[in-house]
Order: sequence, then C-alpha cells, then structure tokens
Amino acid sequence: MEIGKEKIPTMTMKMEVKGNEQEGAEDVPPPIKRRLTMIIEVKDLVKKYDGHTALDGLNFNVEEGDIFGFLGPNGAGKTTTIRILTGIIRADSGQAMIGGHDVFRETMEVKKLINALPESNGYYEWMTACEYLWFFSKLYVVRTSRQEILMLLEGVGLNGRENHVIHSLSRGMKQRLGIARALINRPKLLFLDEPANGLDPGGRRDIHDLLTDLNRKHGTTIFLSTHLLDDVKRLCNKIAILNYGKIVRAGEVERLKGTVEDIFFMSTKEGAL
Ligand code: ATP
Repeated sequence: MEIGKEKIPTMTMKMEVKGNEQEGAEDVPPPIKRRLTMIIEVKDLVKKYDGHTALDGLNFNVEEGDIFGFLGPNGAGKTTTIRILTGIIRADSGQAMIGGHDVFRETMEVKKLINALPESNGYYEWMTACEYLWFFSKLYVVRTSRQEILMLLEGVGLNGRENHVIHSLSRGMKQRLGIARALINRPKLLFLDEPANGLDPGGRRDIHDLLTDLNRKHGTTIFLSTHLLDDVKRLCNKIAILNYGKIVRAGEVERLKGTVEDIFFMSTKEGAL
C-alpha cells in the first residue's frame, strides 16, 4: 500500500551517545553506543473521574515500529489512556511523551505524529468514501490529491468504492474507511481501539493484513487496544496488560512464559494485584 510519496520526518527521540574517541582521553569511560527509539513514554500517569481512580500511576513505553497490544478487562483504563495520549482529555498528574514531545504541552507537535481510530467512530453517512477522506484531509490541513485518496482507498481494500455513499458500505468496509481516515496525515503512530470489533472472520483477517502491511512496509507503530486475544497473538510483538489503572504484565509476546490467554487471566483475576 502506498499512502503518499512524502517521507514523514522522523521526530521520535533518537539518542546516540558516543564515547570520546580522542587519543589520550584516559578519564573518559569506554564508548557507549545507545539508541533510544521510544515513541511512547508514559510515567506515573494518574486520572480520576469524580474521585474514582481510572489510572493509578501508569507506566509503560512503546518502541518505534512495535505493534503493541494494550489489554485489560472492562473498565481497566484502556480508553482513558488512549484519550490522554491523543490529547482528548488531560491526566491529573504524571507525564506522557510521544516522539519526545509532551502530550500536554506540545500538542501540535504530537498531533503531527499520531492519528487514531476510536472504538465508536462516527461517519458522515451521506458522504461518499472519497468525499469523506477529502473532508478529513482538509481538517488535518494535509495536501492530498484525488490520486492519493484513491491510493489510500486501494490500500485499505476499498478500490472501486470511492463514489459509494458511506451508508451503503458494510460494517467491515466502514472500518477500513475509518483506518484510511486515520492514515490521512501519514501518522508514525496509530492508535486503534477495538478495530476488529463486530467484524466477521474475513473482515478481521483483512484488518490484520492491513495493519501488518502498514507496520512492515511503512514502519507505522500500532497501539492496539483490544479484548480479542487471537488478534493479539496474530499481530502484536509486545503487550501490556492493564488492570485497575496499572500495568500488571508487559513484555515481548515471544518471551512471555505461557500463552497470552493464561497470562491475561492470571494477571487480571481477582487478587492478582
Ligand atoms: P472497556 O474495555 O470496557 O472499554 P476501558 O479499559 O477502556 O474499558 P475506561 O473506559 O478507560 O476503561 O474506564 C476506566 C474507568 O474509568 C472505569 O471505571 C470507567 O467507569 C471510568 N470512566 C471512564 N470514563 C469516564 C467518565 N467520562 N466519567 C466517569 N467515569 C469514567
């Protein structure tokens, strides 16, 4: 899938610490080569709604290029986390950085790097698929030609549907259109809240293929919040499990001992904290 021709500038924090290579610099420690490519850094995030604690000192990082599965039972705080990271609501305390930018203070810089498909995405049902993407390209102030919109539609498997009115599209097609909308500003980081919810197995597989493609071909980091553990196993290289507003398990899927199901149920059962 070719989303656009422009290369998105790398704005994530990259740090290279090189040792002093000058001769005679004996007091200087040996060269250290360190590269940090964290695209999300969350530290001690707290969010309360009318005294009810939704996030209780949340800490996690996401590395650039990850497909990161964000799991947790109902009410664990997943949507709250996404809403904070995408700048919809503010945390009460703590720090959240995206691409090295503070999400509370450098909102505009962060918005250039991200986009999101929320759990209940609203569509302007009377628009055609093409008009819908054109409208969002204007909202995002992104220069997009008709050709690029057609390529975007093709990339999500909606070729030939550009002139179809949205209310005539199936649920799966709407979901793909939602993903195309979320790609309009060519984000480096894409937040998806239950993207395969309510889709049939074919629709789910299409979404999997689309996300895998996006990650492999364009290096898009994907932050995937879902209850569907099968999706996590198929797609994610890393996971974090949230319960009562805190991370209870996190790591690379391949290195975690046990199945994703076992880990999920063990770490979220009553009294596991
Ligand atoms: P689900 O999987 O059911 O979507 P979630 O993990 O996304 O849940 P959140 O929606 O973030 O969880 O909710 C975390 C907690 O905060 C819950 O106890 C919820 O009732 C509460 N909460 C979320 N939004 C609000 C709000 N706007 N006002 C009051 N309480 C809220």
